[in-house]
Amino acid sequence: MTTFHVEPIDDLIEHDTSGQPCVCGPTERPVERDDGSTGWVVVHNSLDGRELTEPDRGQA
Ligand SMILES: [Zn+2]
Repeated sequence: MTTFHVEPIDDLIEHDTSGQPCVCGPTERPVERDDGSTGWVVVHNSLDGRELTEPDRGQA
């Protein structure tokens, strides 16, 4: 299984893309790949609020 990380450039913090939980509370989305397998995209949140307009599932 392949995981892609989408992280803000030049953010205030360093995002953990090594598989550890990142402090920004990234959103994981399954994506179907061209070969039919499922990959995961981990969308990191910038801490300067750039993504505030993006819909959010809400954190429990
Ligand atoms: Zn992050």
